Amino acid sequence: MNKLQTGDQNLVKKINKSIVLHAIQTKGPISRAQISKDTGLNKATVSSMVTDLIDEHFVNEIGPGPSSGGRKPVMLYFNNHAGYAIGIDLGVNYVLAILTDLKGNIIEEEIQTLHGVEENQIIDQLQGIIEILMKKSPKSPYGIVGIGVGVPGIVDQDGILLFTPYLNLQQANLKTVLESKFDIPTIVANEANSGAYGEQLYGTGKNVSNLIYESIGIGIGTGIIINGELYTGSTGISGEMGHLTIETNGKKCRCGNRGCWELYASESALLQEAKKLEVFKNQNEIDLDTIEQEAKNGNGEVLQLLNTIGEFIGIGLTNIINTFNPEMIILGNRMTRFESWILNPIHRVLDERLSTYHRESITITTSALGVYSNALGSASFALSNFLDTNRVTVNH
Ligand SMILES: [Zn+2]
Repeated sequence: MNKLQTGDQNLVKKINKSIVLHAIQTKGPISRAQISKDTGLNKATVSSMVTDLIDEHFVNEIGPGPSSGGRKPVMLYFNNHAGYAIGIDLGVNYVLAILTDLKGNIIEEEIQTLHGVEENQIIDQLQGIIEILMKKSPKSPYGIVGIGVGVPGIVDQDGILLFTPYLNLQQANLKTVLESKFDIPTIVANEANSGAYGEQLYGTGKNVSNLIYESIGIGIGTGIIINGELYTGSTGISGEMGHLTIETNGKKCRCGNRGCWELYASESALLQEAKKLEVFKNQNEIDLDTIEQEAKNGNGEVLQLLNTIGEFIGIGLTNIINTFNPEMIILGNRMTRFESWILNPIHRVLDERLSTYHRESITITTSALGVYSNALGSASFALSNFLDTNRVTVNH
């Protein structure tokens, strides 16, 4: 019985501490008296929790704030420099790594072209880029509190890479490899899930409870936020919308299916179709830059191709909107550089194919975080994990 009571007291203390920290994170600089007023906790409890949080380096005091008469109160603010996280966007041909503070502000970044697609090459490069950011990290009480890696492929809930169509990482356990090398908690997630998480915390999806993040790059990945929570399915591998069938007898896909959405609506579809155009007939290397340049030049063939890609994107989105009834769809990853040319055909297809009930309630937009959504989301997984294990609520 005594043991149970002690447990209860500890729990109450942890909850109170979380409430106080949450108030400081969201409303700081704030005085002890104001926290007491806002939270309903008595002044003695607030003071005791604040002392703990200062000892744990999560909270700092600053000079007196405005007072309504009498002694001016000391103000408290969240110490976002108590530790740092590393977020990595592992692309099909690049690695982008960022260092963030505890609030998700980007402090440092490093981008490299991927040296190769073999497992040992990728692991070497990831370790190298992590070491660079660790060296650049300012000194802090908690140091690097976590590493998050967003990868283009199917990742189970244990962080094992089950299927990575463009990188040779099948069955790779990146989490264990990186944890044993650096002794820092590491989270490996699908890049679209990281992107959705990043957009919801810091980007276009802030304060949106039901949203879908479409990462349209070489393939198409989907991150799903339902009622404010990332939905990852029973084994962590939901959101493989790139493999929705949109052509019954369509092209054969690496996944085993035919007519998959990403074969018609992704960056690879765009590059493949661009090769057939008259304007690129004598060019060996066609990349997104060359395509964008021709689009800007007003080349009719290229504009037609982008229109077709936009329509195919719209067809897949129609299926997704009918399934989830989200408030918002955020388009992310590299296809968004063509937004001036693809958004109109997307809207046209939605106008033609969606019921008015769905059409009226949906907002289609592009990522506010741009190239950082995956890296920031990955860093945030690491931050949430750190703050949760310290039993304090994270709220950005
Ligand atoms: Zn497929």
